Amino acid sequence: MRATATVRDLRDQIRSGRRSAVEVCRETLTRIERLEPSLHAFNSVTTDLALARASELDAQRDRWRDAPLLGVPIALKDNLCTRGVRTTASSRMLESFVPPYNATVVERLCQAGAVVIGKTNCDEFAMGSSTENSAFGPSRNPWALDRIPGGSSGGSAVAVAARMATVALGSDTGGSIRQPAALCGVVGLKPTYGRVSRYGLLAFASSLDQIGPLTRTVYDAAVTLTVLAGADPADATSASTPASDYTAGLTGDIRGARVGVPSSLLENGVEPDVLRAFRAALETLASRGATLVDLELPHARHAIAVYYLIATAEASSNLARYDGVRYGFRAADRPAQAGRHEQTDALRTMYAQTREIGFGPEVKRRIMLGTYVLSAGYYDAYYLKAQQVRTLILRDYDRAFERADVVAMPTSPTAAFKIGERVDDPLQMYLADVFTVSANLAGLPAISVPCGFTTEGLPVGLQLTGRRFHEATLLRIADAYEREAPWHTEEPRISKEVRI
Ligand code: GLN
Repeated sequence: MRATATVRDLRDQIRSGRRSAVEVCRETLTRIERLEPSLHAFNSVTTDLALARASELDAQRDRWRDAPLLGVPIALKDNLCTRGVRTTASSRMLESFVPPYNATVVERLCQAGAVVIGKTNCDEFAMGSSTENSAFGPSRNPWALDRIPGGSSGGSAVAVAARMATVALGSDTGGSIRQPAALCGVVGLKPTYGRVSRYGLLAFASSLDQIGPLTRTVYDAAVTLTVLAGADPADATSASTPASDYTAGLTGDIRGARVGVPSSLLENGVEPDVLRAFRAALETLASRGATLVDLELPHARHAIAVYYLIATAEASSNLARYDGVRYGFRAADRPAQAGRHEQTDALRTMYAQTREIGFGPEVKRRIMLGTYVLSAGYYDAYYLKAQQVRTLILRDYDRAFERADVVAMPTSPTAAFKIGERVDDPLQMYLADVFTVSANLAGLPAISVPCGFTTEGLPVGLQLTGRRFHEATLLRIADAYEREAPWHTEEPRISKEVRI
């Protein structure tokens, strides 16, 4: 086993001295060097920092012995702040922004012995489902280079799928961890709202955003969540509910677990191959002793509309800070026009120019939509109404969890689509999120695990959504499924071809 190993393998190999952290790091960097020109998973690769960190771990082997992520190469979505390392959110606005501090999740990973190897490409400010909204060009799906990897954490999913990182972090506001995980054939976990600190995450929609891992196996997601989870005084929305060792419940035993299936939701718009893989996955769960329960989520069909009102409203407020004054890009100062209010005019022009040049089209579209739904006269009709329907969606889940332990759906209604196919049709793009957004609206944890391939050889994901703070249940069921159906062992050809 080489750099392509899982967290468990790597940690054991390094702990026992069979391999050094530097060796693992070098191999990973070589893989990145070979694959990056075809895949474009990264905005920055932190070669020197990573090697320095790995040799520090090797030099102090005794001190780090029990570190749960010892020597594990980790990639971070480029909307997570890293001290001294450029953090762009894939936007011109932050193209040369170097944060003076680390996100809490970055600190926690480092304390667990991880080696950060780079920052991954994403949709600009995490707005999108394909990475095509990145100011630095799209990432490519390792299973088919002419297709999108999903988004917005597309680079993170590509990096894990092509073994350019063992673990990657993403952020998920409406599906951005789970959907790219599904489309690239890896595991993606969005924890409960509040489970993981968001201090140092560039905010998109603050009532929805969560950080979580993308990994090759469910076990690796469980280890990483154990490292990330817990209260943080720097994030008032982080929960004090105690976190546990999420690997402890991975017994493979799911006898008696109740898996809810909202069948009527799946009647329209789901690709036949996706539906076939999903149904087969349900049978696998049943064969391991789970009970399938048919249920309804009557308001879930409004989830997309509600999400795109609330998320844009919050984004319009969160992105107001990018005005060229405090940090990030500033449009060149223009000579003030003659006139009495030249100072004010110059300032207004600077704001307008900065935002005109600094933001891409999708971000502007959302700021306008969000400003509109919050404006006097429309607030009640749109924003308030959306919040009310959000409560109904939440109650649907409460009711569902009286009869089931988890709710199962396909993660995405389609497999990866072609690059360019939906860029001119934002509504079509938004529909990719039909099964993922309701977990964010309700604040629930949800996981995507690989559940097969389409006839064209594109990965499909199974999504399980659970009760608040019941990540352990999600992980146990997903792990049992993975043992029975080890789709995660498949590797994209482009990745297999790299020999070191
Ligand atoms: N695709 C969704 C959007 O465009 C979700 C993005 C996310 O989760 N960050 O808003």
